[in-house]
Amino acid sequence: MRAVCWKGKTDVSVEHVPDPRILNPRDAIVRVTSTAICGSDLHLYGGFVPTMEKGDILGHEFMGEVVATGPGVENLREGHRIVVPFAIACGNCYFCMRELWALCDNSNPNAALAEKFNGYPTAAAFGYSRLYGGYAGGQAEYVRVPYADVNHWKIPAGIPDEKVLFLTDIFPTGWMAAENCDITPGDTIAVFGAGPVGQFAIRSAFLQGAERVIAIESVPERLAMAEAAGAEPLDESQGEVLERLKQLTGGIGPDACIDAVGLEAHGHGPVDWYDKIKVAVRLETDRPIALRTAIQACRPGGIVSIPGVYAGFLDKVPFGAAFAKGLTFRMGQTHVHRYLKTLLERIEAEDIDPSFVITHRVAFEEVPDAYAMFQEKKDGCIKVVIDPAAEATRKERPQ
Ligand SMILES: [Zn+2]
Ligand SMILES: [Zn+2]
Repeated sequence: MRAVCWKGKTDVSVEHVPDPRILNPRDAIVRVTSTAICGSDLHLYGGFVPTMEKGDILGHEFMGEVVATGPGVENLREGHRIVVPFAIACGNCYFCMRELWALCDNSNPNAALAEKFNGYPTAAAFGYSRLYGGYAGGQAEYVRVPYADVNHWKIPAGIPDEKVLFLTDIFPTGWMAAENCDITPGDTIAVFGAGPVGQFAIRSAFLQGAERVIAIESVPERLAMAEAAGAEPLDESQGEVLERLKQLTGGIGPDACIDAVGLEAHGHGPVDWYDKIKVAVRLETDRPIALRTAIQACRPGGIVSIPGVYAGFLDKVPFGAAFAKGLTFRMGQTHVHRYLKTLLERIEAEDIDPSFVITHRVAFEEVPDAYAMFQEKKDGCIKVVIDPAAEATRKERPQ
């Protein structure tokens, strides 16, 4: 089969690799009908995630049709159309029993490796390094889904792939980020970063009853997409984000702040240089620029919700301000399984059409270019969907 393989820093290629096989009784094999490139794939692409190996198959946002099941999978059969959550959960462990699916401590065969980094193992994920289990990803024609009886949601016929594909990650991630804000009517929510997760956080915040959402972002087309959802755009490149957020909220600050940027934030001035230098000499791992501002901006007693990914040690986090203001922090990988039923119902009720976020549709051959385009935020790129069955049609990109 064909698959998108990681070759090294900023190097991916489409290769012919062996088809996946059933290895365990609870496995299923899925023929992928749609898959997407995620912002967190860019952390792999940029070489920020350790334990990647040449030839690893990428991709954790995918859906398709079941073509084979192991003897332990009783609730799926050939022909079923499913979406698959990015985090792999076993369904039986302490964490899965409490619906903390992304914390499953059974799905990662490299638990000892994960423990070394984080003290405890957490759930494995598709296409996301040895550290996250070393499972092949779904940017491929076929994929093996472990614990398939638990890791799927069936999609009825008649709903196009593009409306449900993002149930695998970014829609539930934006939804959980908003849910973590305990939104009550009249609330103002600030969303830092209007990439794909930020866009879903904005729409989810409105669906959960927010009165106002302020979107902080510097890329014009992302601001425009946020504005189309009813958010108030705050162009981060104009500076003075903190002051302007205060002005917009009568001096009090947003009720909750969502950091949908994560560890690769870009900032301005001396603090930005500080982070870049400290990361370069390995005295710091993450650049928490959005997080710092979110903590400073949030109103006393408010909530800071963090769907953006952090990996290690953070400097100059204004924890004193967080303490003084009595802030609540909520964060972590998304418990996707929890939200699939509710969010599919929202899509069926036409409360939201998640395909709004797609800016590019590509064939396999175009994927290496698409990664580069997405990383450089060129050509208005916000979200790329790959159709494994499509033939390449786009011309060579102008350099
Ligand atoms: Zn993702
Ligand atoms: Zn589990």
